Amino acid sequence: MKIPYAEPYKIKMVEPIRISSRHEREEWISNSGFNLFNLKSEQVYIDLLTDSGTGAMSDRQWSAIMSGDESYAGSSSYYKLKDKIHDLTGFEYILPTHQGRAAENVLFSAKVKENDIIPGNAHFDTTKGHIEFRKAKAIDCTIAEAYDTELIDPFKGNLDLEKLESVLKNNPRENIPMIIVTITCNTTGGQPVSMQNMKDVYSLAGKYGIKVFFDSARFAENAYFIKIREKGYKNTSIKEIVREMFRYADGMTMSSKKDGIVNIGGFIAFREKEWYNAATTFNIMFEGYLTYGGMAGRDMNALAQGLSEGTEFEYLESRIRQVAYLGEQLTKNQIPVQQPFGGHAIFVNASKFLYKVPREEFPGQTLAVELYLEAGVRAAEIGAIMADRDPVTRKNRYPELELVRLAIPRRVFTNNHMDVVVAALTNIYNRRNKIQRGYKIIREAPILRHFTVELDRI
Ligand SMILES: *Cc1c(COP(=O)(O)O)cnc(C)c1O
Repeated sequence: MKIPYAEPYKIKMVEPIRISSRHEREEWISNSGFNLFNLKSEQVYIDLLTDSGTGAMSDRQWSAIMSGDESYAGSSSYYKLKDKIHDLTGFEYILPTHQGRAAENVLFSAKVKENDIIPGNAHFDTTKGHIEFRKAKAIDCTIAEAYDTELIDPFKGNLDLEKLESVLKNNPRENIPMIIVTITCNTTGGQPVSMQNMKDVYSLAGKYGIKVFFDSARFAENAYFIKIREKGYKNTSIKEIVREMFRYADGMTMSSKKDGIVNIGGFIAFREKEWYNAATTFNIMFEGYLTYGGMAGRDMNALAQGLSEGTEFEYLESRIRQVAYLGEQLTKNQIPVQQPFGGHAIFVNASKFLYKVPREEFPGQTLAVELYLEAGVRAAEIGAIMADRDPVTRKNRYPELELVRLAIPRRVFTNNHMDVVVAALTNIYNRRNKIQRGYKIIREAPILRHFTVELDRI
């Protein structure tokens, strides 16, 4: 008999979660204005809202917490973190920040001005927010294949080099402070960028004298996909792949809440002292002194350890296998999901699933609420509610896809939990013909409405 696969860790500490009754959930969700962000966490059984900051730290990370150095300046925890990042990426100059968007805020304060243009592969929403806040423009140069959810392509995070070159060619160099490559590309569904594409982007950028930064929240998951999918990397270790990836960048921003496997934290890393120097003032103003930047010493210790564990092949294999397990089981039950499966989440095609719900009634939100009612599972709508209104016409924007994202926290749930999610979605799928109406908005904020919107059933 073939020995089956199992996780490369055992569980030392547990946190109880409780399944509620449907009756309780009906009341809670209605009191929450049918917005899943408004639920209390104890009203949720399996929380797949996000994989950000929700991972489980290891015993070694918890013991690193105890030896944190809380000195204001020159903390040994900072130097431990700095050495680890240098080791992994080759970058010499490191600024800690309290999370990923803070890293963006500091870097862009130093380098982005009005009317600038920042090309990239489908910028993450906080990245785009920080760019547009400075009246600059984020230009999406992702390959067209990324927007066909059924097309199997190994590297749907790649940049289209022709699109990119036309942006570089048709704009003055002084208006393009950098190119941002997001690894993996969150916005297109946790899809990886190939090593070849990183290399090509870097050499094209070099030709025009423009810097490349990696938005690196899921760099280790990206490295795993390179090892598994890209020719020539089968026998290369994850740490060697990571080291090579960062050779094709001048720096990085990081949300440590993802592949750093910590609950809070971030950093910026630079190859050149000059760029580091430009950012230091803003780090001191917005985040904290250069050797802690918004992080406690203990948290920098836990992050240094998390970065080691997060770049181990065995860990990444268990992580990405679990996401794929959920995707495979859903596919087996005919549920339409994005292909190939992403590194951190499975995306359900809600408009295909709830084909009778008109898009004006938010099929993504309707499905997310149904999933909560069915089994207490919390997912995120990535559809028209999140897409907001057009800032000029104030009309609802309808994105190409209405998705429900099932994001999997790291080292938190077992495949039994995944089976609950599969059964819940399958039950809904079997009665999808009866679900014909969705929701209407009764109250909304002028921007980023999805966090606080209130809805009612139609
Ligand atoms: C999460 C994330 C960010 C923002 O990081 P926070 O830690 O949430 O502030 C930026 N870019 C990407 C790709 C992310 O996934």
